[in-house]
Amino acid sequence: MPDFLTQARALLGPSHVLTTELAAYATDWRGKFSGAPLAVCRPADTAQVAALVKLCAACGLSLVPQGGNTSMCGGATPDDSGQQVVISLSRLNRVLEISPLNNTMTVEAGCILQNLQHLAAEHDRLFPLSLGAEGSCQIGGNIATNAGGVQVLRYGNTRDLVLGLEVVLADGQVLNLLKALRKDNTGYDLKHLFIGAEGTLGIITAAVLKLFPAPRAKAVAFAAFQTPQQALELLGLMRGAMGDRFTAFELMSDASVKLVQQYFPASPALFGQSHPWHVVMQASDGGAQAALDQAFETALESALERGIIDDVLLASSETQARELWMVRENISEAQQLDGANIKHDIAVPVSSVPAFIDEVLPLLQAAYPGVRPMIYGHLGDGNLHFNVSRPAGMSTPDWQAETDRVNVIVLDVVARMQGSFSAEHGLGQLKNHEMALYKTPLEIDLMRRLKNALDPKGLMNPGKLLPN
Ligand SMILES: Cc1cc2nc3c(=O)[nH]c(=O)nc-3n(C[C@H](O)[C@H](O)[C@H](O)COP(=O)(O)OP(=O)(O)OC[C@H]3O[C@@H](n4cnc5c(N)ncnc54)[C@H](O)[C@@H]3O)c2cc1C
Repeated sequence: MPDFLTQARALLGPSHVLTTELAAYATDWRGKFSGAPLAVCRPADTAQVAALVKLCAACGLSLVPQGGNTSMCGGATPDDSGQQVVISLSRLNRVLEISPLNNTMTVEAGCILQNLQHLAAEHDRLFPLSLGAEGSCQIGGNIATNAGGVQVLRYGNTRDLVLGLEVVLADGQVLNLLKALRKDNTGYDLKHLFIGAEGTLGIITAAVLKLFPAPRAKAVAFAAFQTPQQALELLGLMRGAMGDRFTAFELMSDASVKLVQQYFPASPALFGQSHPWHVVMQASDGGAQAALDQAFETALESALERGIIDDVLLASSETQARELWMVRENISEAQQLDGANIKHDIAVPVSSVPAFIDEVLPLLQAAYPGVRPMIYGHLGDGNLHFNVSRPAGMSTPDWQAETDRVNVIVLDVVARMQGSFSAEHGLGQLKNHEMALYKTPLEIDLMRRLKNALDPKGLMNPGKLLPN
């Protein structure tokens, strides 16, 4: 067997094969998983990724692709065998082409999402993927997890934003599908195999992404109301009034808003009194600001008159809009600061969200009196982050020991409602075992056959996505 470290150093340069101070690469964002990689390798381009994959295969070493390492389910964290190589894509951060005429940009996988948003804006275009981790997650990681975020309502998931891909396969071959085509019915659309595959089928090295016209006008509001059913009514009303201009609709329970106010004291003042539920919502279009404002305000006035909402705050400046959005964006971090919670990233049909909440909350309270559910998420997509914080007085380890039981309570209701036990974060090593409970044997068998066909030696991110 070739000496991996010697050959990797010859290939990438010694400073790009790290064997010490690996904590940032070996531990996940939530601090839930930690591994002991043999090395962290930082290739500079696709050719180096391909050579590295071939070297890993020759040495019988498995590899873990890593982007911004913001996975919520330990997807990019190596195991503790000392036999895995983390392949960090962060040096593949070049923009290969931006074409306003095609409304596309072709970029390497290690580009930070926020940088791509800014780049699109510089060219008077919009790249609509937007999520709390956008300052550090990479487009390759977004594609590998088929990330969702706050604008799925209007623009779809990452899968809907990708026109072409370049992928290094498990045997080191480079599959070049970097086409900027809107139509191409020439057999199986192979790129979709790698989108959402969480690095288990290949390493994404570049992508052609869709761009949209840059919005000229934007309206943002924060509303308060009593029940999730009212949120659904508000969603229907706003979509009816604003049509395609309505781009985001994010639900937050009062408990999650209060948690943000506790850990981020600079959060904006909201309403004079408490309300059980809130949403932050956004509309945008290419027309005049005044016209958008008028349609938005008229729709919200109608919601107030009909008693759907109790109160509403309209952002009167870009700064205020950003502040209102930060309440939503800071929930994950506030929860992180607050300590252990049992996270669920579920989806049910949009119309079933209120029934789901009504059914699960009493079950949880009965099993764990005083439990603190922190519910928030992308209501317009039927996707809730249904996170459950421990009852006051229970220790963190005791609460973590309840994870499987809490999961069964929540996820069995999801399954009964024909929902998904992982809507946008993927499975990683946190939720892969739940496949066996909530996917059919036929689905799992087909996935295993695909995995075996593309990665017969099982070297690509083993232990993730598929049940062990
Ligand atoms: C505060 C916060 C908010 C978040 N909000 C959202 C949200 O609203 N919506 C949402 O969908 N997610 C959200 N996430 C989860 C996470 O940010 C996304 O899953 C993101 O897409 C991961 O990107 P990354 O570059 O950090 O990938 P990593 O965490 O590095 O990797 C994620 C997975 O992709 C694989 N991978 C990474 N790069 C590649 C590549 N180039 N080729 C092949 N496989 C690769 C890894 O092996 C791993 O399995 C949030 C996370 C945080 C911390």
